[in-house]
Amino acid sequence: MLILNRREVISLLSMPTCIELMQAALASLSRGEVILPLRPVIRIPDSPNAFAVMPTYSASLQASAAKIISVYPANHGTALDSHQGLVALFDGTNGKPLAIMDAFSITAIRTAAVSGVATKLLARRDAKTVAILGAGTQGRSHIDAMLAAHPFDRVMIWSRTKAHAAALVTEAEGRYGPGPVSRARPATFIVVDDVDAAVREADVVCTVTAAREPILRGGWLRPGTHVNVVGSSIPSARELDSEAVRRARVFVDRRESAAKEAGDLIIPMQEGVIGPDHIVAELGEVVLGTARGREDDQQITLFKSLGLAVEDLACAVYLQERAVREGAGVTVEM
Ligand code: NDP
Repeated sequence: MLILNRREVISLLSMPTCIELMQAALASLSRGEVILPLRPVIRIPDSPNAFAVMPTYSASLQASAAKIISVYPANHGTALDSHQGLVALFDGTNGKPLAIMDAFSITAIRTAAVSGVATKLLARRDAKTVAILGAGTQGRSHIDAMLAAHPFDRVMIWSRTKAHAAALVTEAEGRYGPGPVSRARPATFIVVDDVDAAVREADVVCTVTAAREPILRGGWLRPGTHVNVVGSSIPSARELDSEAVRRARVFVDRRESAAKEAGDLIIPMQEGVIGPDHIVAELGEVVLGTARGREDDQQITLFKSLGLAVEDLACAVYLQERAVREGAGVTVEM
């Protein structure tokens, strides 16, 4: 059995490749080729911490996988990450365990890649500025995804702790800085003090925080904005107020998960601000062409991401095949 650590996952799974993998995985899900139970989540008592298992099987990939992940938000800023765990991959034809891989890196890359797919499909073609709200792991990987998905000129970063936004800008300038090696197209990275100023100026907004109460108000959104809403994944927490959701044409990664897990949508429904019909489609339906995405340049579009095991599975299948081909990772006898 193959074991891939974080460094190996990062070196084998590029953002542009992952965006393609996620587009195919979401389309496959919407075609009904995936078995995907809702994830059981253990809430650790008297804490914001959680332990979750995310199993799935894909007929088209002939594989199954489970991600086992702990989410300890207070780890952010310490030596440990807030999301830690493993993805276990199995052969779907004979049931053989094939690989165990680092889940932190897969989660970081695939979540942002899904936002990349949404941005490609739903943002205005002439979008120039993206605002990323949150400067943790997802803030960093969303910079990569946004720049891989669309030719943005400007990346604005806001975070609750300004020093974290500033550090991320410095780090991004280092990685994407001048010079033909790192990037053909230069983008400017800016720290923004006020979250409302960032949102008011942006063509695309990504919310990637662990906030439980809204950090983004609907009144700040300009017509034509696209919003990727990534941070919350429980019914009682949300990053957007109800007005933002009411004003938007709303897409989800999966309807069943959204109905059970997406506080950003469930709370406005409980308030009577929107009904279930407000969810237009799954992103995979837009990929397949069975649902319409953005209808005009004035529309506000919103993609609510919850994170799905099929996304981890698609990455794991790709990583396992590539690692075997290239001799990467370590193989052990069980
Ligand atoms: P990190 O722990 O690396 O970063 C957390 C970020 O959230 C920091 O930018 C922090 O800001 C910010 N934050 C925390 N609390 C608040 C608050 N009350 N108000 C405003 N900002 C806050 O986490 P990740 O980047 O890995 O994940 C970010 C969010 O995305 C999490 O909620 C996570 O569960 C979710 N997630 C969603 C996935 C999906 O598939 N949809 C997959 C993976 C993660 P600062 O440090 O500046 O104070």
